[in-house]
Amino acid sequence: MLEIIRIHNELLGTYGDRGNADVLKFRATKRNIKARITDISYLDPLPKSGDIYLLGGAEDAAQLLSLTALRKGSILARAANKGAVVLAICAGFQLLGTKYATRDEEFAGLGLLDVITTPGDKRLVGDIAVQSDLFDVPLTGFENHSSVTTLGADANAFGKVLQGNGNGVASLDGAINRNVFGTYLHGPILARNPEFADLLIERAIGEAISPLDDELALRYAKWRRALVK
Ligand code: GLN
Repeated sequence: MLEIIRIHNELLGTYGDRGNADVLKFRATKRNIKARITDISYLDPLPKSGDIYLLGGAEDAAQLLSLTALRKGSILARAANKGAVVLAICAGFQLLGTKYATRDEEFAGLGLLDVITTPGDKRLVGDIAVQSDLFDVPLTGFENHSSVTTLGADANAFGKVLQGNGNGVASLDGAINRNVFGTYLHGPILARNPEFADLLIERAIGEAISPLDDELALRYAKWRRALVK
């Protein structure tokens, strides 16, 4: 059973990233891989046995509540150390860094990625396209954030920004560390880029999966890519 843990959707659900879980379940099930989505509220402990943990985007106050809840027991860091897949979008990505600062305060992050996030001077909104070394096509999505994220010495970017802003520093987007992926792409990213969903399933189960003849998903992804400026 592929255990997909959707973390704190009531806090990290502002930008529709909950759909990432549904795409993973759909694409796994179509390969005869049994999959289950478990929604975990910020009032409940995070299960230790997830195969894929998902965090979405949020506004600042909500993301701080989520950060406080996720600190308890360092369960996410332990799961990631054991090889679990973590996909974190925007606010979720920011929480995985070593530091997250608002205009008034600074908070230690969960430390799964060597990045720090600080307030920017304008809101970065619009279409975004990113070229990651993991794919031979660009990934597309939309972004909506005001903070900017700087990579530390131990961090690798998720990709280079072709359109839009991403981290807002050095034309890079996101960060990756083994099976931990942080990015600014909403969309939901896995609905817009089915290749990425399949890569995450492969990482989670530790073996290659067969291609999926999903004409609609492929056509949609291609159409979005054709619009990249
Ligand atoms: N609150 C964060 C920011 O504005 C994240 C926003 C988001 O998740 N889209 O940078």
